[in-house]
Amino acid sequence: MPPSKDNVDHRLQRLDQMRKPLVTRSIALLVGFCLFLVGLHAWSLWTARSHQLEQTAVNTANMARALASQAESSIKLGDAALVELVERYQHDGLEGAAGERLHARLRQIVAHTPELQEAFVYGADGDRLATSLPHLVNGNNADREYFIYHKTHTDLGLRVGQPIRSRSSGVLAIPLSRRINRPDGSFGGVAMASLRLQFFGRFYDRFDVGPTGTIILALDDGTLLYRRPFKASMVGTDIANGPVFQLYKRNGPVGTAMLTSKIDRIERLYSYRHLEGFPLLVASAQTKDEILAGWWTTVIKTTLVVMFAVGVLAWGGRRMIVQIRVREALDGELRNARASLELHNISLRALADSDGLTGLGNRRLFEEALEREVGRARRSGLPFALILTDVDFFKKYNDRYGHVAGDACLRQVALAIASGARRPADLAARYGGEEFALILPDTDLDGAMAVAELIREAVAELQLEHADSPNGRVTLSLGVVAGYPAREAEQPSCAWVEAADTALYDAKAAGRNRAVGRSGTERVAA
Ligand code: GH3
Ligand code: MG
Ligand code: MG
Repeated sequence: MPPSKDNVDHRLQRLDQMRKPLVTRSIALLVGFCLFLVGLHAWSLWTARSHQLEQTAVNTANMARALASQAESSIKLGDAALVELVERYQHDGLEGAAGERLHARLRQIVAHTPELQEAFVYGADGDRLATSLPHLVNGNNADREYFIYHKTHTDLGLRVGQPIRSRSSGVLAIPLSRRINRPDGSFGGVAMASLRLQFFGRFYDRFDVGPTGTIILALDDGTLLYRRPFKASMVGTDIANGPVFQLYKRNGPVGTAMLTSKIDRIERLYSYRHLEGFPLLVASAQTKDEILAGWWTTVIKTTLVVMFAVGVLAWGGRRMIVQIRVREALDGELRNARASLELHNISLRALADSDGLTGLGNRRLFEEALEREVGRARRSGLPFALILTDVDFFKKYNDRYGHVAGDACLRQVALAIASGARRPADLAARYGGEEFALILPDTDLDGAMAVAELIREAVAELQLEHADSPNGRVTLSLGVVAGYPAREAEQPSCAWVEAADTALYDAKAAGRNRAVGRSGTERVAA
């Protein structure tokens, strides 16, 4: 069974209530998704960046550890040589064969230890007493910082001194030295072995710290011993105010941090370590820009991909929204068309239901209404009335005044009859020819007679001239029937028309220009 119009309307109404602004929602969804994509991208990049920095921090810390242990073992090697020299000098002295043996041992030690540049034993006055050089060249080192230190300090431990340029070879080196005591405890001289700076340089060159990264070896008082990239003029300079030492002063023996150099204003990741047991500090640093260079490449590539994706989404989304707009506009147009069609239908229906001449309801509408109202009265138990009217001597009217005048007369009579339909459910209709009907639901015979009388008077008051009528003007006869419709089988609606027609006939017979009433129940039961 096809769905009824009411069902369809109800469904349409329900669907209409569920309708949401599609364009706004689509835009919100698209923008939200694009923002989510961009946010996700930014988050993943940020995570990758943090990971890269953390990884490099681990690497530079490991590098600092390796550098420190290399420096420690170099110093320990040099110190082992010094311990031996001091011991030999103090026990065997330098006279005769003992001096020869010490000299040979010095040469042997330096020859087999690539870290060491040279080794000397100085007397209490600073004169060279023994050397690792092939031949002892006379010279006095009493002015050297390490010599002065040992002369003025009684401790016998190892001392790592300020970097020096060798007077014999001109090579830059770090002096390791120990004080030599005479048997009575007085100052007897200094044993010195120098570590070659270039040895450190070669070792440091094996590490990859990038073009602007750096590796530093310094005394813990801030004196720079070696720096990669190497510049001889920088050896011995004070870097105590530099970032590494500031970090060292703040954090203690081991640390890693991102700092900006005061010299070149470059941000670097620094990792430093103080040597165990020696007054030295090693540090390595990598420039932040270089650490993140690979990451930046990823940023550019992935951002391009994400931008492309967002662009495609935006482009596709825009097209989709245009389509939605078109559809919504189409939908609006269709609704308008439907509404105007419905209006058109209503007016068509009205046209189909009305009488062309008088504008009252036509016979079809009358019959439908009669059927409906009789049924309703039957169900509700309320009274129901029907008036049938007929213009008196109308044939004569036509004959005298012509058909056109007859039509005009009928229009006026129709208006007067329509004035009797006062309640919404009342219906005035043209029954046929010059006969009209008035359906009056919920009206008893008295009420219906009163209405009939009103109509009769209204027609009389029109004062329409009718020379061939005994009254001299147009009059109306009315047959009224009223009552309570009985059950359907016993009393079809057409019985009411018949009853009203009989009453009308009675009115005619009684002399016209009057209303005759009949009780519908009586009549039908008869
Ligand atoms: P009575 O008083 O007995 O009703 O006499 P009457 O002449 O009115 O008799 P009847 O009702 O039989 O006459 C109907 C006349 O109404 C016939 C016809 O000429 C006229 N008539 C019917 N329909 C129309 C119409 O649409 N226009 C015009 N001008 N006349 C109509
Ligand atoms: Mg008639
Ligand atoms: Mg008539």
